[in-house]
Amino acid sequence: MYVCLFTKAQIEKITPSLQCVTSTLDPQWSAHIRALADEKDAVILAHNYQVPEIQDVAHYVGDSLALSRIAATVPESTIIFCGVHFMAETAKILSYDKTVIIPDERAGCSLADTITADQLREWKSQHPGAVVVSYVNTTAAVKAETDICCTSSNAVEVVQSIPADTPILFCPDQFLGAHVQRMTGRKNMHIWMGECHVHAGINGSELKAMVAAEPDAELFVHPECGCATSALYLASEGVVPKERTRILSTGGMLDAARETKARKVLVATETGMIHQLRKVNVTTDFPPVNRAAVCKYMKMITPEKLENALLHGTDVVDVPRDIADRARQSVERMIAIGTPSRVGE
Ligand code: SF4
Repeated sequence: MYVCLFTKAQIEKITPSLQCVTSTLDPQWSAHIRALADEKDAVILAHNYQVPEIQDVAHYVGDSLALSRIAATVPESTIIFCGVHFMAETAKILSYDKTVIIPDERAGCSLADTITADQLREWKSQHPGAVVVSYVNTTAAVKAETDICCTSSNAVEVVQSIPADTPILFCPDQFLGAHVQRMTGRKNMHIWMGECHVHAGINGSELKAMVAAEPDAELFVHPECGCATSALYLASEGVVPKERTRILSTGGMLDAARETKARKVLVATETGMIHQLRKVNVTTDFPPVNRAAVCKYMKMITPEKLENALLHGTDVVDVPRDIADRARQSVERMIAIGTPSRVGE
């Protein structure tokens, strides 16, 4: 039996973005899905980048790590994880005794796919003695080869926790790696040149032009999910004005959306997040920095597939026990370092 690292109160404190949501779409379908979930002793978790129908029917909506933490504490024996595969794996790692189901196991992640466990082993062999720091957007097999995982919220603290004379292998996100290297001034840090395909939708010139065209608008940059790490990098480079730019976690973004008096807030992240922002503030306009910043993998989870997952119990996410045990250690080290992250992925 594996024990959750957090009490329910801690989870509520560090994951305020998690919220029970009620269906605003087809009440009959929602009731049917919730009844199926009750019948199967299942809880439905949805990542912020899921399609609105999935977000609205889920028991909890949030970022990947927060959802993994809640997965480990809810009483239900089955987790229906509406997100991408590495996230469901992380939920499995943190709640190994539960059944974790993803409605479509083909929902991958182009960032996680940029490094395999074999490639990481080969890289490690070239740098004996180096400490491996991996972003959470990695497969369980890569996490098992990792010393410490990180989110983009605590990546700087994770790197600073490693003795200055110890080399670091940082993977897989080159933008997050460059950001951390600049913040820490670390010279002995090797960075894997991976990136998320959604990066292409949020580039510097576009971001700069949009911010310049909207002098009264605020800019929300969500540092999670590979898609926003380029924006994070650009903001810290001074490409966009710091005073109007807010690097915010999912919960922070929702809090800021509730409080903002701005007429317009430009949102630099995967466009699915905007659904939650609009729900908490109906008067502010939340245009995406790029409408094409859409994760095709996230959108592979459809209402039909969710229903199918509940009816037939597919696709089950399995992680070999030895890999899960090793991967859990790197995740636990991440959680132990620095200020508890309010955000995941
Ligand atoms: S947006 Fe990019 S980093 Fe995030 S899940 Fe999709 S492919 Fe992966």
